Amino acid sequence: MSDAVQVSARVSAVHDDIVTIRLLKDEDGNFYPIIKNEVVLVCPQRTNSEFQEKLQAEVLRVRYGEADVQVFENTRGVAVGDAVEQTGEMLSVALGPGLLGQVYDGLQNPLELIAGQQGFFLPRGYAVDGIDAQQHWSFQPKVKIGSTVRAGDLLGTVQEGRFEHRILAPFNLRGQAEVTWVQEGSFTVTTPVLRLSDEAGREREVTMQQSWPVRIPVNRDLLREGYSERLFPDKPLQTSIRLIDTFFPVARGGTACIPGPFGAGKTVLQSLISRYSDVDIVVIVACGERAGEVVETITEFPNTPDPRGGTLMDRTVIICNTSSMPVAAREASIYTGITISEYYRQMGYNVLLIADSTSRWAQAMRETSGRLEEIPGEEAFPAYLESSIRALYERAGVVKTNDGREGSLTLIGTVSPAGGNFEEPVTQATLRTVKTFLGLSADRAYKRAYPAVDPLISWSRYLDQLSPWFENELEPGWTERVHGLLKLLKQGEAVQQMMEVTGEEGVTLEDYLTWQKANCLDQVYLQQDAFDPVDVSTPLARQQVLLSLMLKCLNELPALEDKAAAREYFVTLTGLLKNLNYSRMDSPDYRHYLQEIENLRGGQQSAA
Ligand code: ADP
Repeated sequence: MSDAVQVSARVSAVHDDIVTIRLLKDEDGNFYPIIKNEVVLVCPQRTNSEFQEKLQAEVLRVRYGEADVQVFENTRGVAVGDAVEQTGEMLSVALGPGLLGQVYDGLQNPLELIAGQQGFFLPRGYAVDGIDAQQHWSFQPKVKIGSTVRAGDLLGTVQEGRFEHRILAPFNLRGQAEVTWVQEGSFTVTTPVLRLSDEAGREREVTMQQSWPVRIPVNRDLLREGYSERLFPDKPLQTSIRLIDTFFPVARGGTACIPGPFGAGKTVLQSLISRYSDVDIVVIVACGERAGEVVETITEFPNTPDPRGGTLMDRTVIICNTSSMPVAAREASIYTGITISEYYRQMGYNVLLIADSTSRWAQAMRETSGRLEEIPGEEAFPAYLESSIRALYERAGVVKTNDGREGSLTLIGTVSPAGGNFEEPVTQATLRTVKTFLGLSADRAYKRAYPAVDPLISWSRYLDQLSPWFENELEPGWTERVHGLLKLLKQGEAVQQMMEVTGEEGVTLEDYLTWQKANCLDQVYLQQDAFDPVDVSTPLARQQVLLSLMLKCLNELPALEDKAAAREYFVTLTGLLKNLNYSRMDSPDYRHYLQEIENLRGGQQSAA
């Protein structure tokens, strides 16, 4: 990008990070062409920086002879008359081996590298390669001279940590191309490894890295040409969190939203999901968090052990922007994250993207829209808020890649509604878009009922949509059973409310038992202790065993003649079941508690 030298416009107005530029005319008297979303470089002349700063900006709006651009950096010292260079490229991200394990800012500057070179904060006008240009990767071609390939076809592989990184033919390749030259060996990502000759006979060199505009899905052309296909999500993402997997499942390739009032356990829940879900790669976009939290994420993740060996960071990419970074970079970060996720999905991997928080992203959009003086919608958010949210979540999904592998991109976004008010526009638009809602509640967190997801407000459309999977892979009748238990939780809540008014005496024994059952289900099944080495993760197979046991315990109660007897029975039962959860499956402890539970049930039955 820094090669662009043609000055094709000049600054005519500066309004915070929105700069208006006046286009210059070429020799023929025509304005230099400029396109929406193109990246331009604003070159402030009157600053005392020792090098010519070139501030990256994106074209937001083009008018006759003029354009409004949004600068990704602080615009201090930018003045009317400053030169503007065009790059001819849209805001893009570098895709290739070496992404895993990186911590980037929203414009794909590697933060660790910068921290080494420049102190933690990137000086203005300074950009670093997204992928290290010095590192060598051993390229194994999978095509020969004379092979024909299409966009997205497998060209070769390199080993990236524990993953086979599949080098795919450029996503913007048109039609068929023939391989005219290829080399095997150890190269940097900027070294040509292959040459292609397209249908028009044009030669093109291919490296292990390609650049892709972040606002366009990586697979757009592949889907349009039918090289790759979208598939219906038909499997659950297994998070090993009982409440999610059993009651509010998220499909692999599906979408979910977690709203988090402060302190409700959002951070812990996200970290559990990224650690234990059955995905290959995790991409985390920390958008607009406070600087302290970001530093925490960066220092904590590399040391978090991965349950599959190594550290979690080996298969993670983090994109982060603190609220101290310019608003435009914050807005871009989510697209950078999603583009990297799509790239790995296109290799056939299962990718999980956690975007925290999409509210901050939407606020960045609102600020920009305000500066452009667009007609505001609800709460000053732009009128296109909902369609932007929808377009974002639509990039999740399952695909069949060119060579028939299946890849998925699951998108879990958090929202941070001010004051926990779910009626605000970002939460509302998100709820109309996603298919799972995991409603964290401050109330449950206060009672230390973790994960503090409120089962009475949460929902998942995948429970029914994935029903064939559950019925085949777990057991027939699964979905109906889960619906039955959700109903029990609601009934328990109704009794609870009644008892708050009338006391225990005011309800019948039958209602009281309903309440006890719901309470037991909540404590044993929904609540899960993130700090216990066993309870922290319950694989789906174990969830199935526990669910059957609980159903047996709750449906076949011994005779309990009064509330005191019921209370005593449930206290013991709940205690035993919780201890069972804390024991490794089939360990002596586990068998011991199972036996105790049987004794309790049998003992009571014979006493009856
Ligand atoms: P938030 O990010 O919503 O502000 P955190 O995720 O940091 O909140 O959680 C706050 C505290 O709640 C944690 O430090 C921890 O003590 C407790 N907590 C949250 N989730 C769990 C969990 N699943 N199991 C046990 N404790 C939890």
